[in-house]
Amino acid sequence: MAIYLCHDEPDLYVHDASVVDSRPGSVALSRSAFHPGGGGQVSDIGAIEWSGGRLEVTHIEPDGEIWWHVLADPAAELTGDVTVSVDPEHRLRVASLHTMSHVLNAFVFEEFSGALVTGAQIGGDGKGRMDFDLPEIDNDRLRALEAPINDVIARGLDVSQAYVDAAEVQRTNGLVRSMSVAPPPTPDGRLRLIDIDGLDRQACGGTHLSNTAQSRRIAITKVENKGRHNRRVRFQFA
Ligand SMILES: [Zn+2]
Repeated sequence: MAIYLCHDEPDLYVHDASVVDSRPGSVALSRSAFHPGGGGQVSDIGAIEWSGGRLEVTHIEPDGEIWWHVLADPAAELTGDVTVSVDPEHRLRVASLHTMSHVLNAFVFEEFSGALVTGAQIGGDGKGRMDFDLPEIDNDRLRALEAPINDVIARGLDVSQAYVDAAEVQRTNGLVRSMSVAPPPTPDGRLRLIDIDGLDRQACGGTHLSNTAQSRRIAITKVENKGRHNRRVRFQFA
């Protein structure tokens, strides 16, 4: 599954599917609009309705090409045709924080001449963090990025995706920055680029807003030193 259904159809929240594999408490489907998560970003959550009822999906457990949709009932075994629902509020929270992590990354990359991301985590609880490989600099300079991030939200910049040749991406400085969600290459060797209009372009396979104005305001709550080169920035909805 090189191009996720949620990449092709980001506004698809409810759809039909059939069970292709099943084990107690989890199920694999013929198609799924869930994002599987990865690299510190939580997966989508939602529900599956089938002839026997309706169960919450708590998360996705990817196993190679198979995505196990883990159900709230560890004994449930599903078969047949189902209706899949992705939780839109969870998707929006995660996509907002994740898109704002690109914005934060863009400002850090620009202000601290190419500083790279060393880790990231985006939770479903409205909180996130990013780690940057930064030498000893004043943490107040990182805290001060809160204002320009909220300015980007207020300005309402369009966020778009494009597929470009993976070799070209590798050649272009700054497009691959060890971002939080490893971008899956397509079968013909292309990578998904996320473009925040006029601000940032980088390869990413995560979920994003289509316009920065869809996000609530962001607060940078803490900047921590995690080793001489590692700076951790915590942020959440204001
Ligand atoms: Zn991304």
